[in-house]
Amino acid sequence: MSRYGYEQKSFQSKKTNFVFFMLLIVVIFVWALVLSPDHGGLVSVSLNPELRIDFVNVGQGDAVLIRTPKGKVFLVDGGVNVPVADARREGRELIQNYLRNQKISKLDGLVITHWHNDHLGGIIPVLRLFEVDKIYETPSTFNTEAWQTYDEICKKERIQRLSIKAGDVLEWGNELFVQVLNPEKPVSSKEYSEVNNMSIALLLRYGKVQTLLAGDIEEDAEREIMKYGEGIRSQILKVPHHGADTSDYMPFLQLVKAEAGVISVGRSNAFRHPSPRALSHHERVGTKLYRTDRHGNIRLFIGGKDTRDYRFVVDQRL
Ligand SMILES: [Zn+2]
Repeated sequence: MSRYGYEQKSFQSKKTNFVFFMLLIVVIFVWALVLSPDHGGLVSVSLNPELRIDFVNVGQGDAVLIRTPKGKVFLVDGGVNVPVADARREGRELIQNYLRNQKISKLDGLVITHWHNDHLGGIIPVLRLFEVDKIYETPSTFNTEAWQTYDEICKKERIQRLSIKAGDVLEWGNELFVQVLNPEKPVSSKEYSEVNNMSIALLLRYGKVQTLLAGDIEEDAEREIMKYGEGIRSQILKVPHHGADTSDYMPFLQLVKAEAGVISVGRSNAFRHPSPRALSHHERVGTKLYRTDRHGNIRLFIGGKDTRDYRFVVDQRL
């Protein structure tokens, strides 16, 4: 009897252990899905909905990757297109490699702010290697080899191209409000600053946090955008035109009143961007600056529950 009792107890104990073990596995699995900071799966997205914006360190140029809480992926500009060896030597990313490393195979939308090579160049390999749902363009054409190649690929692949202008609202998911602030109207000029002023500028609002992606706009466009008044006040500003002193119109910066600014710029670049005057203007406004030449890739996470619900993570801490 006592022997039977012992065996029964032992059997029950094994069963209890098994149930406990299975429960533990379930708990660990759920923990990994929900709490693991690296996890980007569905469970994590629905419980911790953040808008993610990566300012990719493409050297002298812009490339901004936007991932929405509901899993849509958008790219604003692609940086320049240079050989891999050059990029490695200069310590900068090629956007197609960055997207691959982020396990991205499809883009829901691609914005090309304007046609200069430090924005358009990297788009060409992206179009060749990735599925792109649609492209948002500035309303003009351009007469360069890169533009011709771009135009040919788009036609061959039959990619939908939308010409956008100030006042348009982009449908990037109902949790995110995206408005086009610039350009006001098409300009046919090929003059350098005119092309910059044609840049698509986007205002992104997620919850209580606004981010202004200003392309390469210069003072003319900065003045134009000021007509939106307080509506363009933003917590975060992608500093226009790599911090050039043609794009640091003080009333504009004071109106935006950004708490944080991101300068996408190449190390020791030939243009000497950013300019000391632009840096001092941002400092006077109280904007804390992040720079891709110093911080590497700059990643912004926006929760949006209140105006301070955002955080930056950088590759290199100074
Ligand atoms: Zn540029």
